[in-house]
Amino acid sequence: MINIFRCLLHFVIVVILTVITQIGGVAYLLSLVFKKYIARVGKLKFGYGFLLFAIFYGLLWGGSIFIAPQFGRVALPCFSDQTDKIAVQSPLYCLLNRHYVTPKLLELGNALASSIDARFPRTQTQALDANFPFFDKFPLLPHLSHDDGRKLDIAFYYRNDKNEYVVGKTKSPIGYWGFEQPTDSRSQLCSNNDDNWNLRWDMDWFQFLNKQHYQLDRERTSVALQWLANQGQSYKVSKIFVEPYLAKRLGVSNKIIRFQGCRAARHDDHIHIQIAK
Ligand SMILES: [Zn+2]
Repeated sequence: MINIFRCLLHFVIVVILTVITQIGGVAYLLSLVFKKYIARVGKLKFGYGFLLFAIFYGLLWGGSIFIAPQFGRVALPCFSDQTDKIAVQSPLYCLLNRHYVTPKLLELGNALASSIDARFPRTQTQALDANFPFFDKFPLLPHLSHDDGRKLDIAFYYRNDKNEYVVGKTKSPIGYWGFEQPTDSRSQLCSNNDDNWNLRWDMDWFQFLNKQHYQLDRERTSVALQWLANQGQSYKVSKIFVEPYLAKRLGVSNKIIRFQGCRAARHDDHIHIQIAK
C-alpha cells in the first residue's frame, strides 16, 4: 500500500515538474535512480535527494542550451548586461527553462529593444514567458499557444510615483498580473464573464504583491506596440494580443492586433506576440 502511494507521489511530482519546466521530470527520475544506487553503495540515508535533483536539473538545463538549436530554438538572455538588447524580466524564467524562442524571434526581440532604447535611451525591454527548448506542440502552461518557439510575451514599461520611467522594473514582481483596468464598463468586453472554466483570471489574491504606485508608461508601451505592429511585420510578426480597450487607450490600431477572446488569459498586463513560419 505504501509502495503504491509512494509511486503515485513520484508520478505526480514528475508530471508537475515536466509541466512547469519540461526537463524537471527527467531530472527527478534520474535523481531517484541514482539515489537508490548511492544508498546501496554508500549507505547514505538523508539529505542528498534534493542535491542529486539539483545536479541533474543543472546538467539538463545547461545541456538544453546546446541541444535546443537542433529543435530550431535559442535561449533568450537571462541578464540584461549581455550583448543582446532584450532580456528576461526575471532569472526565474530562465531557471524554469521557459526562455526559448526561434532565432528569428530573438532577432525581433533585439530589434524591438534596440529601437525603443534608441528612442528612449536606457530603456530595458523585457521578455516574459517564451517557450520550452524541445518539441513542437509541447505547451508551456498556462499558455496554450506557446508551443513552437514562435510565441513570446513582452512586459509593459512602467513609471514610479515621481513619474519617472523605472529601468527593468514591472508593476508585478513576475511581470504578469499587474492588470490595467478599463475606465468605461462598455469597453470591458468580458465584464459579464461569470464562467469560471476559462483562463481569464483576475488574480485578485495576487494583487497585494504588485507595486500599486507604478503606472503604465503609456509612451514607451505605445511606441513598442506601434513598432511591433508595423516594423515588426518585416520580422514576420503575424499576431499581437492586447485587450482592445488598451490598444485604443495607447492610440494603436492595426489588423494584426487582435482580441484573444474571453476564454483566454487577459492581455492588459503584457503584450503577446507571435511570428509566422
Ligand atoms: Zn503569450
